[in-house]
Amino acid sequence: MPRLRLSVIVPCHNEQESLAELHRRLGAACAIAAGDGYEIVFVNDGSRDLTWPVMADLARRDHHVVAVNLARNFGKELALSAGLELAKGERVLVIDADLQDPPELLPAMMKKMDGGCDVVYGLRPRRQGEPWWKRKTSALFYHALAGLSDVEIPHDTGDFRLLSRRVVDALLAMPEAHRYLRGLVSWVGFRQEPIEYERPPRHAGRTKFTPGKLVALAFDALSAFSIRPLRLASYLGFAAGLGALLLLVYVMWSWLSGVAIEGWTSLMLVMLLLNSATLIVIGIMGEYLGRTYLESKRRPLFIVERVIGDGVSRSAAETNRPPPQIAAAAE
Ligand code: UDP
Ligand code: MG
Repeated sequence: MPRLRLSVIVPCHNEQESLAELHRRLGAACAIAAGDGYEIVFVNDGSRDLTWPVMADLARRDHHVVAVNLARNFGKELALSAGLELAKGERVLVIDADLQDPPELLPAMMKKMDGGCDVVYGLRPRRQGEPWWKRKTSALFYHALAGLSDVEIPHDTGDFRLLSRRVVDALLAMPEAHRYLRGLVSWVGFRQEPIEYERPPRHAGRTKFTPGKLVALAFDALSAFSIRPLRLASYLGFAAGLGALLLLVYVMWSWLSGVAIEGWTSLMLVMLLLNSATLIVIGIMGEYLGRTYLESKRRPLFIVERVIGDGVSRSAAETNRPPPQIAAAAE
């Protein structure tokens, strides 16, 4: 089967207002970058608004569009995985649905890749329309990730990336269920080059990431790329041991010099300290253990409810992972 030159993957969760405009701008950019040889894969990630009917309609009217409906909300990372699995292009562009990643950058990204690199990632040093606490926490997170993990993940990037086929195949070969795509892409290696852009505010609607979702994503990322938090146990243990030794010296001294030890306060203090340290450590181990358990179940990562467009022509058996459950054939 001759491959397409370009696939574009768009994860969508309640994006009804953005889709038409996105389709218009993205289609124009794709035509410049790849002529007729492109497809746009919209992945509906359990939207509760009219996102699915809108994208299904786009797929019926434009043969470049493939509309994929997931069975429920699986989260952006898995929606992206679904898109990657169905994408048939030699190159794959990952882009947000809210037009915060300008499609007009695509031709320049293609040109960069012609120069021989395997990943072109959008770099956004300045962000508009994002609250200060989001900028601060995201900076803090990238810092922690860089400090804790062994792979270097570029700061200030989103998922806006152009990937070569061999990077996509490498990603598809990764079986893990807790996915943090930016990290995985960095991990793959090859030559990766940035392209700078200004990140405009959302076209419409509100961010789909609640603080809770962001914290979950942050922990997925940290635990996927580093086991150093587990070592916190040892550090805390050493520190507690040292503290206990000092205390022992003090206790011996006061016993020998006949000063009565009141006892209660210091005892409580030590107990509280040690107990909280223990709980923190158990919690961290639990996070890792829980993830190991979830990974060990080998569930398919997502369930596809329906595909409109020619997205199903590639059978699930072609990929080297537990096949996604494609429940309904193409219309
Ligand atoms: N998204 C998704 N599933 C989710 C949450 C978000 O597919 O559970 C999509 C969303 O539709 C958008 C992209 O992920 O295309 C980025 O989301 P958003 O713009 O809300 O994130 P932010 O730009 O605020 O980081
Ligand atoms: Mg956004």
